[in-house]
Amino acid sequence: MIANYHTHTPRCNHAEGTDEEYVQQALKAGLKLLGFSDHAPYPFGNGYRSGIRMDVEELPEYCTSINALKAKYGQRIDIKIGLEAEYYPACFQAFKDLVRNSDVQYLILGQHWTFNEYDGIYNGSPTDDEQQLKQYCRQVLQGVDTGLFSYVAHPDLIRYVGDPKIYEKHIRILCRELAASGTPLEINLCGVRTRRHYPSADFWRIAAEENCVALFGVDAHRAQELTDKQALSAAQKFAREMQIPVLDRVDLRPAR
Ligand SMILES: [Zn+2]
Ligand SMILES: [Zn+2]
Repeated sequence: MIANYHTHTPRCNHAEGTDEEYVQQALKAGLKLLGFSDHAPYPFGNGYRSGIRMDVEELPEYCTSINALKAKYGQRIDIKIGLEAEYYPACFQAFKDLVRNSDVQYLILGQHWTFNEYDGIYNGSPTDDEQQLKQYCRQVLQGVDTGLFSYVAHPDLIRYVGDPKIYEKHIRILCRELAASGTPLEINLCGVRTRRHYPSADFWRIAAEENCVALFGVDAHRAQELTDKQALSAAQKFAREMQIPVLDRVDLRPAR
């Protein structure tokens, strides 16, 4: 692994360590590129406060901190400023405006909730509701259609536990469209480390058949996770079994 675009910081309220510790561990892991992609601040506009992301007011300091690390370590490692964000239709314009006026360089799409979070359902909770599955797929594609997201993080986050035929029908369409758009899909190492329902073999078998391409994302919430060789080799074994091609770098799409 030479590039990791999926790295959190404590600003999201569920990660640990200083920004610099993440850079030091990335160097130790031999990465040539480290992208920070903390959970995006979202201007919800209705007073709703999300507990799992930085506040809008924290974005300038996030960028300043990473810019300082670029200045300090830039000769040894390419550091990028990104965000992991959902496509929330009611607030996406305000989010775009926020990003446009910042130093954020790239976005990855992590569709954690349907609709706008405050009126949606967490996609990682088990559901047998086909409407939930459909809405997840629709929203991922709407996000990708904005052209602003460089890849889809944990595309297999949706945890549909109903009829496998229904899962396959919707996921196949999703994967076909994602492949056609040239958007890479992430095999998420946080899911590997913490034995979540993703990476999902059911998802990736379909993704491979639909000619999707993958990359690994550490999804680090602790700096040491960047040097976790066990999780990486388990993910590599998984990718081989799924027969999915894995990129070691992606072309980042500009975030504005
Ligand atoms: Zn995520
Ligand atoms: Zn993440």
